[in-house]
Amino acid sequence: MSDPVIIVGGGPAGSAAASLLARSGKKVLLLEKEVFPRFHIGESLLPFSHRVLMRIGAWEKVKNAGFMIKPGAEFVLSNGRSLRRFFFADCLAEPYDKTFQVERSRFDSLLLDHAKESGASVLLGAVARGFQEGPDGVEVEYERAGAIERARGQWLIDATGREPFVAKLLRLPKTDLGIPKKMAVYAHFRNVRRNPGRAAGNITIVRLSNGWFWLIPLDEEKTSVGMVRPISVFQSGKGSPPELFEETVRASRELRSRLENAEAMSSYRTTADYTYRLECLGGSRWLAAGDAAGFLDPIFSSGVTVALESGVVAAEEILSQPEDSSGLSPEQQCEFTCRIHALASRFADMIQMFYDDRAFEVFMTPHPPSGMKDAMIHLLAGNPDLPLSLRLQVKLFYSLCAMQRRWRLA
Ligand code: FAD
Repeated sequence: MSDPVIIVGGGPAGSAAASLLARSGKKVLLLEKEVFPRFHIGESLLPFSHRVLMRIGAWEKVKNAGFMIKPGAEFVLSNGRSLRRFFFADCLAEPYDKTFQVERSRFDSLLLDHAKESGASVLLGAVARGFQEGPDGVEVEYERAGAIERARGQWLIDATGREPFVAKLLRLPKTDLGIPKKMAVYAHFRNVRRNPGRAAGNITIVRLSNGWFWLIPLDEEKTSVGMVRPISVFQSGKGSPPELFEETVRASRELRSRLENAEAMSSYRTTADYTYRLECLGGSRWLAAGDAAGFLDPIFSSGVTVALESGVVAAEEILSQPEDSSGLSPEQQCEFTCRIHALASRFADMIQMFYDDRAFEVFMTPHPPSGMKDAMIHLLAGNPDLPLSLRLQVKLFYSLCAMQRRWRLA
């Protein structure tokens, strides 16, 4: 039998690629450096991730795993004065009318187990250290239980997340897309005040003048709460990240009221400097997927959806190659790179709107023009095939809000 496809990284991107390849009859070897279950940030899914979960045959397992149902998303100002709720079911039908909030230790284990059940061989505690590509395959060097081992493969998919293994070895350039550098500090809490009724499982985004908080209910007891602010705020010497978190809560009426009885169930963690894109996502025998390809600001919870989608795109690229392929041509490498970039960049306009004080009104306006609300819901649900007419509505409304605001300020 021919050499396997080697996948490095067992997060959503790696598991999606491994499942699809194995189910399509390819031999797959997945190397994961951690022993699962392991903690990971990124707990709120988007409804259009369901498409990929169906494609890789994992949908029924995720649907029946008992994760908290996420009916929509909401934005609220820090002073609590203005609140806008979006419910997916208001304009989307099953299976996109709701999604899930997931504790990643459980979600990622479920997907990795699914890859195994699909036929992939999975080695946990295996840290990839190096690779070499030749005309007929790749060789990956990895360390496991203190020993260095080597595996030969037909192809390599780098799904190693925000510390991309191949890009680091090849010293590939990263761009920051002009989005200012930010840092997040977060923990799990009990006794966070929940929304009533239909909105109980929503993700809540509390917008500060200079940053935002997320509140993600994970189960009956546990809520994930995180603060995102420019990295300069954390470097100002005014306190440690947890101290700044607590001070910001005290200064916000909305956060104070939601967190007044909250108790931390974990220690605080931080993640910094996470918006970037690699400009080259494929070589002759390797492809990058998920955060190893790039990652946009997490404000719209797009990361896992894009990771799953890009894992599938990488697997499809390999499946489209003949058995005796001599590797991807430079044109194929460029085409693959463009396809992966497009997956994340559909969220770029919305991210820009969120951080622009003038355009933020797009999210908060209580009576948006007809069609506009539907367009927003499709965008928040992560629809990759948003019709052009809806996309234009959002752009038009965005420009109108910016203009109105300029007139008011003038
Ligand atoms: P990962 O999930 O990071 O998986 C990579 C895997 O590779 C890991 O298991 C790692 O152990 C393994 N690995 C790394 N190096 C090696 C090596 N050398 N050898 C072997 N294995 C290796 N996304 C959402 O969808 N919703 C959210 O609400 C959300 N919130 C976020 C908030 C913050 C502050 C941040 C920073 C991100 C957030 N994200 C969110 C994004 C989300 O975390 C990622 O986009 C997603 O986890 C990417 O999946 P992945 O499979 O590409 O990488």
